Amino acid sequence: PDHATQDFISASDAHSAHNYHPLPVVVATGDGAWLTDVEGRRYLDMLAGYSALNFGHGNRRLIDAAKAQLERVTLTSRAFHHDRFADFCTQLAELCGKDMVLPMNTGAEAVETAVKTARKWGYRVKGVPDGRARIVVASDNFHGRTTTIVSFSTDPEARADFGPYTPGFDIVPYGDLEALRAAVTDETVAVLLEPIQGEAGVLVPPPGYLPGVRELTRERGVLFIADEIQSGLGRTGRTFACEHEGVVPDMYVLGKALGGGVVPVSAVVADRDVLGVFRPGEHGSTFGGNPLACAVGLEVIAMLRGGEFQRRATELGEHLHAELALLAGTGKVTEVRGRGLWAGVDIDPAYGTGREISEKLMARGVLVKDTHGSTIRIAPPLVIGKEDLDWGLDQLRAVLGA
Ligand code: PLP
Repeated sequence: PDHATQDFISASDAHSAHNYHPLPVVVATGDGAWLTDVEGRRYLDMLAGYSALNFGHGNRRLIDAAKAQLERVTLTSRAFHHDRFADFCTQLAELCGKDMVLPMNTGAEAVETAVKTARKWGYRVKGVPDGRARIVVASDNFHGRTTTIVSFSTDPEARADFGPYTPGFDIVPYGDLEALRAAVTDETVAVLLEPIQGEAGVLVPPPGYLPGVRELTRERGVLFIADEIQSGLGRTGRTFACEHEGVVPDMYVLGKALGGGVVPVSAVVADRDVLGVFRPGEHGSTFGGNPLACAVGLEVIAMLRGGEFQRRATELGEHLHAELALLAGTGKVTEVRGRGLWAGVDIDPAYGTGREISEKLMARGVLVKDTHGSTIRIAPPLVIGKEDLDWGLDQLRAVLGA
């Protein structure tokens, strides 16, 4: 890295906790699918803030909505009503085909909210004896970083040294319906799953799994909670990844793209028989559902309602997966998974670790991020042009000598 870049990185290293290992690029500005660093170099963003930037950097509609709201009012806390709240909740509920919304800020907070909702529902509605509620989750899940959420992680890095852990979770292999069936008891209040596991490497469950989960949870009187924080809001070519299998969960957990990469906005969305369990004082957040968040979220919902982003994700996604399949044919890529404009690409370890591939791509002006081992994730903003996507794929081919 050059001088300016190195100075920024050294200063970050000196005064921030080392809980991340970023690529050695220091971004200064962004526009659509492109970023410019402090040295003036341009990069194609093929990560999109882990899908928080589905609508691209500096999206005009989102920036205008945010600016207009900045001039009006930004925070009231929920001590008072504000004039963007009802619209946001009504329209998000409608987008999800549900009755009610509970807005929070980050993904982890929304997952925590889903867990609390499911437990309270279990005691008040299902009649589970006090303190006995259990939630079934999948191996290799990623739902966030709070102490409760890492308690049911199977990733030693995410979990080690953060105990004592929150009890009440049962972990079953992802994609294994029989294991799930065996884990559900009369005390199970919910099954919490990512319909596609993002951090695990964009793992798509076997066909029929999600419908099977839906049927099982309905039969056993258990809530099906879909964590669509990364998979939802257009990424896979549908508003929700569950739609690909015709599945409607009891609860959607949303985040990331709900705030358009502008502000943190997350939410739990469900019907009244579920979210109706909350009474005043039982849950909350100072910033959850704030006017700025609602203004940006409303614009996100309006953009999703048009279907244009879902169509782009479908069309560009077909192209992306066709190109990646060709690469897989060379053997340099050992497996490709994903849906829509979202792919987990396993590279033959002979070409380096995922980190090394990411650094080589960065040197060629493409930003991606590795996940476990030799897997890289491709998830560009849905606004990316086809030529830019092709250029990005050219760089991947060049790195692999394909
Ligand atoms: N759930 C899923 C599926 C995610 O992918 C993430 C983030 O990567 C989270 C939850 C946590 O979101 P946040 O980082 O906003 O807390």
